[in-house]
Amino acid sequence: MPDTPPGSFARVAIDVPIVHVGASLFDYAITPEFADAVRVGSWVVVPWGRGRRVGLVAERSDHSEIDTARVRPLVAVLDDAPVLPPSWLELVRFCADYYHRGFGEVALPAIPKLLRTPPAPKARGSAFARARKRFVAAAAAEVASTPPPLNDAQIAALDVLLAANGFGVHLLHGVTGSGKTEVYLHWLSEVLARHANGQVLLLVPEIALTPQLATQVAARFPAHSVAVLHSDLADGDRAAHWLAAVEGRARVVIGTRLAVLAPLPALAAIVVDEEHDASYKQQEGVRYSARDLAIACASQRKVPIVLGSATPSLETWFSARRGRYRLLALPERVGGARLPALERVDLRGKTLRCELAPASIDAIAEALGRGEQALVFINRRGYAPVLACEGCGWLSRCSECSAFRVLHRVGAARGPSKYRLVCHHCSAEQAVPRVCPDCGNVDLEPLGRGTQRLEEGLAELFPGRRIARLDRDVARTRGAAQKVIDAAHAGDVDILVGTQMLAKGHDFRRLTLVVAVDSDGGLFSSDFRAPERMFATLMQVAGRAGRDPDEAQVARSRVIVQTRFPDHPLFGYLARHDYAGFADQQLAERREVGLPPYRFQALLRAEAPVLVDALAFLAQAKQAGESLQAGKGPQGLARASAESLRDDAVALLDPVPMAMTRLAGRERAQLLVEASARRPLHAFLRAWLPALRDLRSSARWQLDVDPLEI
Ligand SMILES: [Zn+2]
Ligand SMILES: [Zn+2]
Repeated sequence: MPDTPPGSFARVAIDVPIVHVGASLFDYAITPEFADAVRVGSWVVVPWGRGRRVGLVAERSDHSEIDTARVRPLVAVLDDAPVLPPSWLELVRFCADYYHRGFGEVALPAIPKLLRTPPAPKARGSAFARARKRFVAAAAAEVASTPPPLNDAQIAALDVLLAANGFGVHLLHGVTGSGKTEVYLHWLSEVLARHANGQVLLLVPEIALTPQLATQVAARFPAHSVAVLHSDLADGDRAAHWLAAVEGRARVVIGTRLAVLAPLPALAAIVVDEEHDASYKQQEGVRYSARDLAIACASQRKVPIVLGSATPSLETWFSARRGRYRLLALPERVGGARLPALERVDLRGKTLRCELAPASIDAIAEALGRGEQALVFINRRGYAPVLACEGCGWLSRCSECSAFRVLHRVGAARGPSKYRLVCHHCSAEQAVPRVCPDCGNVDLEPLGRGTQRLEEGLAELFPGRRIARLDRDVARTRGAAQKVIDAAHAGDVDILVGTQMLAKGHDFRRLTLVVAVDSDGGLFSSDFRAPERMFATLMQVAGRAGRDPDEAQVARSRVIVQTRFPDHPLFGYLARHDYAGFADQQLAERREVGLPPYRFQALLRAEAPVLVDALAFLAQAKQAGESLQAGKGPQGLARASAESLRDDAVALLDPVPMAMTRLAGRERAQLLVEASARRPLHAFLRAWLPALRDLRSSARWQLDVDPLEI
């Protein structure tokens, strides 16, 4: 680490939104007693208003732009804390710049809460000492696993990775069951063998569902301690694992999106598993994409990175097609297993029982008759999506959101008390009314089906069969999801019912049938990414079938997709397992209409108690942006190159209400900014944000760069 320049002022990052204060770093005076202890990357306690906060020293300087009489001194230096490395500060700076947020807004939330709480004046033992003591590396699975032999495609991919030197992005595109994980693990273990103190980072979408992942990985790296980072960890454990990673004691770090912002001083390789997964995008605060940040991090640190998926995001696929990423293909399942046959079942004109067409019911009966398992997939949790009055047409709308409250079965009791109405957006809950609130009718009917009602219907259709459900409601109880998965593995379940939670990486050996109940949701959505998401989900769910090494079992494995649009091209690609065909067709469509990845987007969202206020704010914002582009903005032209602003490279669309306008009692609207390249987009945003801060409005607003949902 280079020597910190001397200076009597520290520029400190604090977790306050830049939107409100306009500044990103705050100046504090360094009194002589701290002169030697304060370095760039040091943790300090500073006065903030009437309280104190923990901040990070981002710069040292011998002058302050603020009147020095007003600069307050630092209160303390946390000398037990690790000085954070320059490489990490650089990543934070990139993230703050790219997403147009404050340095502290990125840096501080990336640190576990326990470590960024100012120590109590008489605290005994520092939080750091306690966290160091607490660290227990993820335990290895009981049976130390011997790596299975790799097939030719896996070996070819691995050879390319082993030859990788310095920065490079690799897309490992492998069909479901093709053994991507084995390629990662072989590669990472070789990286660790080559770098004496090197660290590797494995990002995964959701860890809480697959706690066995950490133990499996730990079993493969018996010589190294494995740290696990995700938001469901208890505060103390998160601090302990984070510190072990930062101090280099953990050489393998597995985590969800937040792990990308863990400072890893000896980072040597990164893997982003299921890189297409939407959970990599943070949906509040600084809306970063962990996948994109991982690539930026790999580039800064000059290390290789692997993105893995059976259904890569179109952005990633596009880069691979253009040769910016190296494409490594695993076109076949391990052991030579075939992909299951996929059939479309036309729902038109069919009498359904429990949402299932006769052909689907027959297929389930056949699979069960052979002693095999069936998976019934529906992407809707709860009992029924809406409760309705047959008399007057009343529907169980949420009073706070533009959405329906979903009927949920909550207990074993009989009668209406066994149900609740729950809003999936604002979480508001209410008892089920005994009579219609509008007309007093006593006949209230659930419309449609969610996982709970499907489970109930299947129990009636297949009496005596063992049925298990997996969705977010089940997973809320710690360990419950794992229990369902273990039971399925042990053969104690005949029919699995659930949401896309069932789609993620589970190897159910006796599963030979998958039925997707309602596959049409994503076909006609207003969100241009809906078909991409739908294709990925169906491909993942379908991939659960026929994974047993037994050939005969694989040969009779089936996937049934129920649809009212059997001729839709998406299903054709799906039936042929043709991701590349689907992706190329989607890219052609997007190029035609000018959507990402051919154009770049930022979304300004505003919310207010009434919609007109949100729209009025956005109208002002648009006007301010247009003034900048016309060269009238004094602030703007000073800050950004006039050329890029005048250029018609950046377009501001009209403000519109969001698809789901009302959420938790507030009305929401959005303004889309589009550009033909990143550079003019960011130049524009840099000039525009100060102008937005100056607007007078009661609306709350935030900017989302590269939004995933529009
Ligand atoms: Zn009614
Ligand atoms: Zn609601």
